[in-house]
Amino acid sequence: MSIKQTKKQAQLSLSEQHSLLRLDKEHVWHPYTSMSEPLPSYLVESAHGVMINLASGEQLIDGMSSWWSVLHGYNHPKLNKALQEQAAKMSHVMFGGLTHQSAITLCEKLIALTPNGLDKVFLSDSGSVSVEVAMKMALQYQHAVAEKKQCVLTKTKLLTVKNGYHGDTFAAMSVCDPVTGMHQIFEQVLMPQYFAPAPNIKFGEPWSTDEVTELSRLFAKHHHDIAAFIIEPIVQGTGGMRFYHPEYLKACRLLCDQYGVLLIVDEIATGFGRTGKLFACEWADISPDIMCLGKTLTGGYITLAATLCSSHIAQTISEGEAGCFMHGPTFMGNALACAVANASIDLLIENNWQSQVKGIENALNTLLSPLAEHPRVADVRILGSIGAVECKQTVNLAQIQKRFVELGVWIRPFGQLIYIIPPLIITTMQLTTLINAIATVLNEEQCFN
Ligand SMILES: *Cc1c(COP(=O)(O)O)cnc(C)c1O
Repeated sequence: MSIKQTKKQAQLSLSEQHSLLRLDKEHVWHPYTSMSEPLPSYLVESAHGVMINLASGEQLIDGMSSWWSVLHGYNHPKLNKALQEQAAKMSHVMFGGLTHQSAITLCEKLIALTPNGLDKVFLSDSGSVSVEVAMKMALQYQHAVAEKKQCVLTKTKLLTVKNGYHGDTFAAMSVCDPVTGMHQIFEQVLMPQYFAPAPNIKFGEPWSTDEVTELSRLFAKHHHDIAAFIIEPIVQGTGGMRFYHPEYLKACRLLCDQYGVLLIVDEIATGFGRTGKLFACEWADISPDIMCLGKTLTGGYITLAATLCSSHIAQTISEGEAGCFMHGPTFMGNALACAVANASIDLLIENNWQSQVKGIENALNTLLSPLAEHPRVADVRILGSIGAVECKQTVNLAQIQKRFVELGVWIRPFGQLIYIIPPLIITTMQLTTLINAIATVLNEEQCFN
């Protein structure tokens, strides 16, 4: 059989494409779109390197890394090989009472790469679950501390900042921004938490200690009730692609120490080099008590997340009433996911991620920054491999998406933000095409509301 024939067989006819898309529209939920008037979905046939290949024939340069998760490109031979080799041994075994090399190796790698003091790893299925695990760890820790001291447990709430995003499950939702997280809909069921103003001084701007006045006041007033403080380090992603001053994160660390509050850092979006540091909390030179990892952990291949904590937290929980941590997902330590995560981390180091990220950052500085002059643009922000264009109007998602596809790129804006976070292997030429596409749509009235 010739290669050409194989390709032809794999391709869907026009009527097959239409029928699949009709079924999709009829029965399949997609994230954050109406089920009665859904935004269009594009049918993907395959993806390779930085290209997403649509069934309709268009080839799109991927600017989104499939929501921050792809690092080394799609269909990578080394990642594929890791999966195949693991599948040939076993895809999964229960983690209760059993263990395996892929999970052990991954946990050792994570401990070695993350900031000092994070020595115990809890593997779970997704970012949101890793946040649930982090919150539960903090609450169970404070329970054990109160028990040990024989005092009444009061530290049962979390403190966080506005504009945050930590996932879509209920505990995670309770610490998301109350407005964009639509807290009013779930008022009766969400755990009430404390919210400080969002960090305001931008990354790279001069620092002022006034920035933490209100945060300090909240710590001083409510620390008896607060088990942990949770924050996305340096980059508030879904809450508006806001890059804040590292001194803010340093202040958070100090306040947590002062008031016996645990610091949870949600590195799900920022981890593995995205911001120019391997982990964003390195910008502030701090170690959290608990860290959440997800998204890029498997290089965008399979869902997997990790919650790391200090030995002290693990020990305290283990000495408490339950005698163990009360969590155990069915697919904990999934072998396929761990194997591909190991291969992805190896590639990160092999490919010299620092120079990959620096290359993207330099290109963004040269090519994306000038868009700040455009009359429709309010601000352009760049950090590491992240580039965001904040517009003065909200985008018309259906229109802008259609135009991007016509221009050969995959960029999915939200609200007033058009941002790119490309796979690390993107070339300057491909990056130029992405940025030119943004420049083009900025001139098109129909792409904005
Ligand atoms: C995406 C994200 C999550 C949620 O991860 P899921 O895998 O979608 O559950 C949590 N926190 C941050 C900062 C994220 O960017």
